[in-house]
Amino acid sequence: MSTLVFGHKNPDTDSVCGAIALADLKKKLGEDIAPAMQGELNPESTFVLNKFGVAAPEVVTSYAGKDVYLVDHSDLAQSPDDLADANILGIVDHHKLGDVTTGQPLECWIWPVGCTCTVVASMYKYFDIEIPKDIAGIMLCAILSDTVIFKSATCTDADKEVCAKLSEICGESDLEALGIEMFKVKSAVDGTPIRELVLRDYKDFNMNGKGVGCGQLELVDLSIVDGIKADLEKDIRDLKAEKGHHTVLLMLTDIMKEGTELLIASDDEAVIESTFGIAPVDGKLWLPGIMSRKKQIIPDLEKTFK
Ligand code: MG
Ligand code: MG
Ligand code: MG
Repeated sequence: MSTLVFGHKNPDTDSVCGAIALADLKKKLGEDIAPAMQGELNPESTFVLNKFGVAAPEVVTSYAGKDVYLVDHSDLAQSPDDLADANILGIVDHHKLGDVTTGQPLECWIWPVGCTCTVVASMYKYFDIEIPKDIAGIMLCAILSDTVIFKSATCTDADKEVCAKLSEICGESDLEALGIEMFKVKSAVDGTPIRELVLRDYKDFNMNGKGVGCGQLELVDLSIVDGIKADLEKDIRDLKAEKGHHTVLLMLTDIMKEGTELLIASDDEAVIESTFGIAPVDGKLWLPGIMSRKKQIIPDLEKTFK
């Protein structure tokens, strides 16, 4: 039985490409291992895999009795429901340490960088294994996606250095153009059900006993969602009720203007005001310079909930 490597629920490009790359590296190091994902590919990841001719990992939702590696998360809320019955061999991630724990020592590569694929690329270097051209291409895209083409507060020099190396290997030299091509695919909302948009890049958090959900749509222009904003606002109110959450947020991030309009459904909007120092108007708030959920939204909210 082979080991499986997978990223978080609602897989994004980093979760998918990080799993594929780590499986490739581990295979070359002699492990019997395959990439997996906890849900279907999103449009951006589909575009990235097609562009470089890489097959999608299998969708696997149950991991009981399996040896596994986790990438791009270490939070139980984002891991498979039966993770407790799996044997975790290692974690490769770039988020805050979550609440996943293990019964045995594990291999752990958790670095404060912009993308899991930056860590995986560094692992190839550490083990002195050559990165294949197609894998270099998808890792490059994952880093451009997670760092919002190097504009996110999460982006580090290590991410940029790794991208320079990957672009040499895969032959993509115009990273800005590649990134915008990818974000245009990501921005497309036409014909997509509202709930699917809300959940496309959505994460649940437990903040001091209160359920908080936060989704994000990264858009090349905020006006793309003008016609559906009221529907999005209604849907996050519905989602909040369905989950019994205290708060559900949706970040509408304009990657060119470099800011986020926050849509808010909350039992207590004062929490939002005291977190960001600006009062929401009609359940909305414009946050200039804010693009990262992980670095600029979640930690500040957690402080408020403490
Ligand atoms: Mg991710
Ligand atoms: Mg990531
Ligand atoms: Mg992201």
